[in-house]
Amino acid sequence: MALLADKVVCITGASRGIGRGCALACAKHGATGLVLHYFGDDATTREVEGLKAEIEGAFAQCRVVYVPGDIAMRETSLKVVEEGVKAFSRIDVLVSNAGICPFHEFLTMPPEIWERTRGVNLDGTFFITQAVANQMQKQIPQGGSIIGISSISALVGGEYQVHYTPTKAGILSLMQSTAVALGKYNIRANAILPGTIATDINKEDLADIAKREGMIKRTALGRLGGNFPLLTHLQPDDIAGPVVFLASDLSKYMTGSQVLVDGGLFVNLQ
Ligand code: NAP
Repeated sequence: MALLADKVVCITGASRGIGRGCALACAKHGATGLVLHYFGDDATTREVEGLKAEIEGAFAQCRVVYVPGDIAMRETSLKVVEEGVKAFSRIDVLVSNAGICPFHEFLTMPPEIWERTRGVNLDGTFFITQAVANQMQKQIPQGGSIIGISSISALVGGEYQVHYTPTKAGILSLMQSTAVALGKYNIRANAILPGTIATDINKEDLADIAKREGMIKRTALGRLGGNFPLLTHLQPDDIAGPVVFLASDLSKYMTGSQVLVDGGLFVNLQ
């Protein structure tokens, strides 16, 4: 039996990077419906159209709908749920993944960068979690699995991430509190904390060879996440595996947990 048989999965930020990898993995593991959200300029609309064609061509059981919109706006989350329910009548899994990390020095950081990072990462995760949880609470059978993509940055600091790390700690906290608030509705909520995964989000940062080599060296497994060294249009499946696990009934007694997926980066002190 496929791990995600008969499940409808909603993924935010699914056009590229980790979200795209999760979409492919969920389809491969039997999901019947995918609600793929993304920001939506011309280039990423083409990417998500290509992803839909790829998934529906390769996995006969899976149908895909996609919904663009700025996740920092509450209306986007309401639209994502509306479109998902219109297409599939329910949502079983949410992967709240959309996020940005505009690296910036702290002392000179304009307030707009802080506000935008918080708006997309933390407000966006709050809005989509609340919107999908309301759907999971009222559907029959009731319940579902919510997965917040946090970060190793929820646990450690970064010189150029002073605005980003608090949003990721906030997502971890949001998953813990929603686990408590939603358990009575058979809704689980867990956080995944990726380490360094080579995607567009850190492409410029990792272009610094010394920094990249330093990050690789810090991992116990001796590599970054994803299909390194390709730095664009990756399908990073290092995070997708744990996402499928938390989405599936294999993890049915897990809620409020945090899963660090970092190749052994965090524990490597010396
Ligand atoms: P990515 O390749 O840059 O992809 C980001 C995705 O988020 C895209 O689908 C993008 O849509 C979407 N997005 C960005 N801003 C949005 C907005 N305002 N509204 C709606 N969608 C928006 O990044 P990634 O590395 O896959 O990151 C995915 C998540 O993993 C993020 O939450 C990130 O913080 C987290 N994470 C990543 C790493 C890492 O090393 N890569 C480590 C820890 C945590 P468009 O394509 O339409 O722009």
